[in-house]
Amino acid sequence: MNIFRMARSFVQPYQPSFLVMFVTSRCNARCPFCFYAERTGSATGPEELTTEEFERISRKCGKIPYLLLSGGEPSLRDDLEVVTGFFVQNAGAQFVTIPSNGLLPERTVSIFDRLTSTFPGVHFRSAFSVDFPDRRHDEMRGVPGCLDSIVEATRGIRELKRTRPNLSLDVVTVYMKENEHIHPELREWVRESIRPDNHELHLIREDWPDHIPAGLDLDCFLVQAEEYASEGRMKETRNLSAFFRGLNDQYIRSLGRLVRGERISKCFAGRKITVIDETGKVRLCEFRREILGDLRQDDYDLRRILRRSRGLFRKMNREKCTCTWECAVSTNIVCSVRFHPRLLLSAFKELLRWR
Ligand code: SF4
Ligand code: SF4
Repeated sequence: MNIFRMARSFVQPYQPSFLVMFVTSRCNARCPFCFYAERTGSATGPEELTTEEFERISRKCGKIPYLLLSGGEPSLRDDLEVVTGFFVQNAGAQFVTIPSNGLLPERTVSIFDRLTSTFPGVHFRSAFSVDFPDRRHDEMRGVPGCLDSIVEATRGIRELKRTRPNLSLDVVTVYMKENEHIHPELREWVRESIRPDNHELHLIREDWPDHIPAGLDLDCFLVQAEEYASEGRMKETRNLSAFFRGLNDQYIRSLGRLVRGERISKCFAGRKITVIDETGKVRLCEFRREILGDLRQDDYDLRRILRRSRGLFRKMNREKCTCTWECAVSTNIVCSVRFHPRLLLSAFKELLRWR
């Protein structure tokens, strides 16, 4: 792990520190709440970036320590390990998260097996989606047997973790109307059946700008988000775990204001946390519709597109939009100087607690 390189990515202008890459829009589940449903429902694949195109992007994007490979279902890409390897070798990725619906257990375990053994200096985080502790999960995901597949996949990941210290097993739950009042029961099921390192709660999204669905019990969400965070506190295994826990603490503390639509800081979407979709379009963020550029038409040069988007970044900050997107809020906290004393204090407390 190269802390200097990580720090440098945060201060270099138009150099992202966090890259969210939609590697495919294909998905083998049919979740009615999917925020990417307009793509996942009809995706077939040929429009997606090829292996070679990903390599070209990785050679020109500078050093990006944090990579999230999203979708769709990332494990549906046969070349996922190769694409990940490009960003580790060419772009210096040090923390890689790959979420999954768990429907391809063998393939998922084999991906993490190859990646963790090929790149022992990189920390990989497998994140599985679980929204109910029983058949309601399968109903919500539109696939019978989905929860059983997750149990099988996570069993394989736990086994792998015995010999791979650079692997974490996480669960992510989407807070929605349908599961609003089952969280203590769900947490207990996940604790006993999956035994993850972290279990996070994310708020369901609707289309921008009214991205928080009406009628949700947000007070209940805030209480539960804190409960989830407390439960994971002692289990974090990544390098810099105290920092990540401290960051998560600051995120949880900001949630109350964010769900009321208040802004906690300037937003660094685009510049420091950058989203590339599966066709090579660079988007302002996961919520808003603005496209910053098309890598295919710009010689696969991400930083050139970001430099050209200065005006849009200024406009977005003048508009003072706000959202609860976990990755953007965390990046904004790290990039905002006024949060640094609180962040350091939280990280220090976590370090003491952990020791
Ligand atoms: S598994 Fe994820 S990407 Fe696939 S439909 Fe469900 S929410 Fe969307
Ligand atoms: S606050 Fe940032 S991440 Fe959130 S919607 Fe606005 S531009 Fe996007």
